Amino acid sequence: MNTISENLIRIKSNLPEGVALVAVSKTKPVPEILEAYEAGQRIFGENKIQEMAAKYEEMPKDIEWHMIGHIQRNKVKYMASFVSLIHAVDSLRLLTEINKQALKNNRVINCLLQLKIASEESKFGLTEGEVKQLLNSNEFQGFQNINVVGLMGMATFTDNREQLQNEFGALKHLFDKLSINKTDNCNLKTLSMGMSDDYPIAIKNGSTMVRVGSSIFGKRNYNI
Ligand SMILES: *Cc1c(COP(=O)(O)O)cnc(C)c1O
Repeated sequence: MNTISENLIRIKSNLPEGVALVAVSKTKPVPEILEAYEAGQRIFGENKIQEMAAKYEEMPKDIEWHMIGHIQRNKVKYMASFVSLIHAVDSLRLLTEINKQALKNNRVINCLLQLKIASEESKFGLTEGEVKQLLNSNEFQGFQNINVVGLMGMATFTDNREQLQNEFGALKHLFDKLSINKTDNCNLKTLSMGMSDDYPIAIKNGSTMVRVGSSIFGKRNYNI
């Protein structure tokens, strides 16, 4: 079995320029995350706010912490002081809370809107129509403490390459369409798509940020 740093270096060296790597460290203990840190990794992704906050306290302060999981509004306050990117924003109500907590911390928090691209019923996310409605709403345009900097999507759990390509391709198409319109708090530059099993296909379809966990840290004991 390869070590964490070997995995990380191999994956990084194969990423095209302009594609950022989020090392997904959910469920992994601090010493293992530190191994990736020592190999040069600075962006880590977590899917539970309290777990991320605890790791933030313990780890070096030049790490960028990304929240990649589904978010409960009442927990936004635990990460508002330090989170550097929130990937899975899927409602105006959630954005309202992020804006409020960012203001309290005197910050502007970067967010990605999550699109539903998978055929599976269980995946969270907005439809294209809902994204347009959100971005055009007066409420959104009044938010001073959030910046929507891109889109995020999770493909169906399948090895069908054609289906993965169609799902990632549809998200890239929407991303290109929406990036034309820039406003004070919306300027789409980041397209977060691709995980351990499908990130090479996501990159071929225009991903600029991949979220890779098990290929770096090994299998998780439990998976959410
Ligand atoms: C767990 C998780 C990942 C990483 O999954 P791997 O298959 O371990 O690479 C990526 N994105 C999200 C949203 C996740 O929850």
